[in-house]
Amino acid sequence: MKKVALVTGASRGIGRAVARRLSEDGYAVCINYIERRDMAESLRDELLSLGREAMIFRADVADADAVRAMVQAVEEDFGPVTLLVNNAGVAGQALIQDVDDALWQRYFAVNVGGMRNTVQAVLPHMIREKSGSIVNISSIWGLRGASFESVYSATKHAIVGLTRSLAMELAPSGIRVNCVAPGVIDTDMVQVLGEETLKELAEETPLGRLGRPEDIAEAVAFLAGEKASFITGQVLMVDGGFSG
Ligand code: NAP
Repeated sequence: MKKVALVTGASRGIGRAVARRLSEDGYAVCINYIERRDMAESLRDELLSLGREAMIFRADVADADAVRAMVQAVEEDFGPVTLLVNNAGVAGQALIQDVDDALWQRYFAVNVGGMRNTVQAVLPHMIREKSGSIVNISSIWGLRGASFESVYSATKHAIVGLTRSLAMELAPSGIRVNCVAPGVIDTDMVQVLGEETLKELAEETPLGRLGRPEDIAEAVAFLAGEKASFITGQVLMVDGGFSG
């Protein structure tokens, strides 16, 4: 069957590297984005110029209708999605006293609700085919706490729980569900921490550097592929040893 990957939040950062890596592995890729059409287009054009198949689609993953429309567009252009990478996410720092309804709901709607929307949209075909692979991006803060990032951390813990549960629920349908938990990766998301803090975080990392989006992309490509055909329900920490 044709290999078709949907990567959410693939215009920038980790998702961009994942889409590029999967394209190398022969997947036709859908590059999902929400704001940065320019970045999504530049990646699509790069992949097309290499003779690969790529498309872009704007959808807020928190919007179930938009996600369904995206999956339908992928099916029309490339065929059914055989690999779903749930990468799109929002993060930020706030004291728990300052977490209002809007912030709480948006973080859960994107980071956790987005995953439900995409999974529900791609599952009918995967179940029919009795095959498919789903890789979710959690975080080291999905396995331990992070002060000032309690909401983000809670959503990332939820992703681990969803991964493990869906792995059990979907295994009889031949669908594998795994998770990558990145450490500190040098993308736009962490620039808010400032140069000094990022330097300290690199020093605190046993391997002595921040992660690169490509480090995560390699882990996703492995879990997605045939070489991981007996692996499901796992959380692979890719953090340079940060979590010990
Ligand atoms: P990033 O540089 O901020 O990029 C975020 C990506 O997600 C962009 O492509 C953005 O699209 C997209 N996006 C945001 N909200 C969306 C929505 N509602 N619907 C669809 N797309 C949306 O982030 P990143 O560092 O690459 O992080 C990617 C994932 O890795 C996130 O889930 C994050 O929590 C996780 N993670 C990151 C780190 C880290 O240190 N960077 C560590 C652990 C886990 P636009 O470009 O259109 O805005």
